[in-house]
Amino acid sequence: MENKFRRLPSVDRLMSEDKIRQLLDIYPHELLVDLVRRELEQNRAAIALGTPCTSANEIVDSICAQAEALASTGPRRVINATGVILHTNLGRAPLSEEAIAAMDQASKGYCNLEFDLESGVRGSRNVHVEQLLCQLTGAEAALVVNNNASAVLLALTALAKRREVIVSRGQAVAIGGGFRIPEVMKQSGAKLVEVGTTNITHLRDYEEAISPRTAALLRVHSSNFKIMGFTSSVALEELVELGNRFDLPVFDDLGSGCLLDTTRFGLDPEPTVQQSVSLEASLSFCSGDKLLGGPQAGIIVGKRHLVDKLKKHPLARAMRTDKIRLAGLAATLIPYLKGEALTKIPIWRMISAPLDEVERRATAWAQALGDLAQVTEGESMVGGGSLPGGTLPTRLVAISKEGKKRGQNRAQVLAQILRTQEPPLVGRLSGNILLLDPRSVLPEEDADVLQSLRSAVASLRRN
Ligand SMILES: *Cc1c(COP(=O)(O)O)cnc(C)c1O
Repeated sequence: MENKFRRLPSVDRLMSEDKIRQLLDIYPHELLVDLVRRELEQNRAAIALGTPCTSANEIVDSICAQAEALASTGPRRVINATGVILHTNLGRAPLSEEAIAAMDQASKGYCNLEFDLESGVRGSRNVHVEQLLCQLTGAEAALVVNNNASAVLLALTALAKRREVIVSRGQAVAIGGGFRIPEVMKQSGAKLVEVGTTNITHLRDYEEAISPRTAALLRVHSSNFKIMGFTSSVALEELVELGNRFDLPVFDDLGSGCLLDTTRFGLDPEPTVQQSVSLEASLSFCSGDKLLGGPQAGIIVGKRHLVDKLKKHPLARAMRTDKIRLAGLAATLIPYLKGEALTKIPIWRMISAPLDEVERRATAWAQALGDLAQVTEGESMVGGGSLPGGTLPTRLVAISKEGKKRGQNRAQVLAQILRTQEPPLVGRLSGNILLLDPRSVLPEEDADVLQSLRSAVASLRRN
């Protein structure tokens, strides 16, 4: 009987192939032997299932590709031409030059993370940003943790465990991948008491649900959806008034951490952290990497006696942020203090970019694509769990679907070429049309975009 595995090359034979010998300049011998062995095992398993034996060349190429992939694992830089400014899958907010410089500083050598330089004794890692956050929002105290999901989980665990938290049914929501209010509540050990209906909740619904077991009232901002039509919810000030009457804290999960008035840009009003604090929410929570425009973080601001309890809770230690992100967050907050956010913070530069400037850039991009593209009117989105109903007028480069090739249309082929070039450029596919939006790309990146578009056209023509 013929041995089905006979034609598979040996480990030694593969290791002596030129392409693999070249890799020995870069990778240790054992690592390559390991890759070769595993590749052969997989081939053996495939052959056992009846797949024909692959050629030695194909096996060598696969090993080379694996070695290359090992050393180039991401996250790596991508150009976001989707027009979604806070794209969670593409890493949310790009950071300001100042934040990047501060993170660079904090990560080289040592820093005074938990060391008071004045007195020479141990300090707190929180002080660096707490003062800034209090100054900007008017809050008594602040705490920064890993992300907003941990901020909410920490507050519920520390202040509502084994007791009840009242939430409007319309706010027991899911935000993005895996943040669902009922599940966070369960994890914290607090009991969710839903009141009202999906579209209508009255103040008396909350009031009727208050019992001796109630620990807090929770408001959750509908960050990523919009209910239209016959709707009514209870304003934060009314909830606070009710909370005061029953001596209950009110928690406000804001989501995006907006510090500026979004209506200036024709967007819907997004609740700001300052408003939440001035309306006397006991604790307000938000993300660092949404409309705040900084690194990933969970920001808690509010009443000192409550923030102090959170600081002392063991979970706070498990959720703490590192020196690099704290440095980046502090440097992101300073431009807000100086009134320079619109020029310094990338996402606000994108949001406030004038339409004629976007149009000028779209025209240059379209020219790089030759006769494949045209400039059209369209809309950019803020996205990433903020401003669900808000869009910004923009100009798009549109590549239409003509020229079917191997069952795929030209727009899809071009989209794939752009995604797999260096640096990858990601656009938005709308049906059979590829749309590229300059608004979510910083002007500093335009040289890379133009080069990428030109080489994509060349490679499209070659195919
Ligand atoms: C985005 C969001 C969260 C989760 O924030 P992360 O920083 O991603 O953990 C929680 N609540 C609301 C209302 C949000 O919009």
